[in-house]
Amino acid sequence: MHYISTRDASHKASLSEAIARGIAPDGGLYVPGEFPHFTTRQFEGVTELPEIGARLLAPFAEGDPLAGELEAICREAFNFPAPLVPLDQAPAPASVLELFHGPTCAFKDFGARFLAACLERIRRNAPRKLTILVATSGDTGGAVAAAFHNKPWVEVAVLYPKGLVSERQAQQLSCWGGNVRTFAVKGSFDDCQRMVKEAFLDPALKESHQLSSANSINIGRLLPQMVYYAKSSLELWRQLGRRPNYIIPTGNLGNAMACVWARHVGLPIGEIVLATNANQTVTDYLRSGEWQPRASVPTLASAMDVGNPSNMERLRALHPEFEELQGQVGASSVDDIEIRGTLRRDSHELDRVWCPHTATAAKVYRRMLSRGARGHWVIVSTAHPAKFNDIVEPQTGREVPVPPALATLLSLPRQETELEPSLQALRTQLQHT
Ligand SMILES: *Cc1c(COP(=O)(O)O)cnc(C)c1O
Repeated sequence: MHYISTRDASHKASLSEAIARGIAPDGGLYVPGEFPHFTTRQFEGVTELPEIGARLLAPFAEGDPLAGELEAICREAFNFPAPLVPLDQAPAPASVLELFHGPTCAFKDFGARFLAACLERIRRNAPRKLTILVATSGDTGGAVAAAFHNKPWVEVAVLYPKGLVSERQAQQLSCWGGNVRTFAVKGSFDDCQRMVKEAFLDPALKESHQLSSANSINIGRLLPQMVYYAKSSLELWRQLGRRPNYIIPTGNLGNAMACVWARHVGLPIGEIVLATNANQTVTDYLRSGEWQPRASVPTLASAMDVGNPSNMERLRALHPEFEELQGQVGASSVDDIEIRGTLRRDSHELDRVWCPHTATAAKVYRRMLSRGARGHWVIVSTAHPAKFNDIVEPQTGREVPVPPALATLLSLPRQETELEPSLQALRTQLQHT
């Protein structure tokens, strides 16, 4: 298996190369050069995430040095569950796919842990330490810090916009120490992202550090996300004899892209519907066929505040014809008033407390039903509500119990450095302290 750039198929790379580079030399994103095809039979008797992962991802690692270690990588990455929970009180058959049982209580733990397990092997005999720079608007930084913490071959610098993430997210970003350094940047998320981009182009830093990124365009974060779609769809397929449909809270389209790929290789997945917040670049595109990226607007589902979703490039690479693409995914947008209303209503009527991101999918589920949708629906739950208690509790009127993993992180002292929003400030920190 080789990987090609979405912009120019002649830019080929092996899996290890694609993971190590992150982005293709022409600025495009790596996608599989060809897709394997699976039948449900090939997964008979395989029921656990690590085993399903090893089987599903084997063709994607074929011919690469990582192939022989795929089972071990999957055991390391998928060491917490992704349960499918029936939504008993729902007005029509539905389940919740809970992706928040990892160390930082969001689905990004799957991708971050898989990426770390791959990079550890890729870098095994490398002479220099790797320095991973992450700009984060909330969840990515925590997941990456947790996945790479205490690994002797790597240092991590997390940049987040001071005062613009939830209190508990800030705690999760800054509780690490050791090889993880957290910078509270006096600026916006865009400033953080700009500083990271500039750092990659800075000759002095290039000389002193082996820089890498761990953001969601890395194929090493996308491939493992196919695995929980495989496991849950196979489970429901065996139970119900029909393909479940998925509603996925969507920002940069990484999670949803993995679901589209899982269906593309033959897993029993029906409709895929993207739930977005008030950032409507994707919903507008699927309606009009015109791709118009724009500045993001802040919402209650902040991890989905993306105005220019980069993984759309991968979706368009898979389905270059707009009419065809339009038939592959649906999309629906949910504003903050609806997020609040859904948190309130579902807490009372369904006895479910969502995080604000999951609430967008729960709202879209109700919308689909009112338009006569049939079949079995899976609401994808991307984070634990306890991470966003300041938004959730005022709506539901009940305290969200804190899961043990989060409680541990919340009890640790905060270690962070304030930073002016400039490359020079970042360079000084990385080189001299
Ligand atoms: C990152 C994130 C999303 C959006 O996922 P994408 O892959 O960027 O579409 C949704 N919900 C939560 C909780 C997240 O952290």
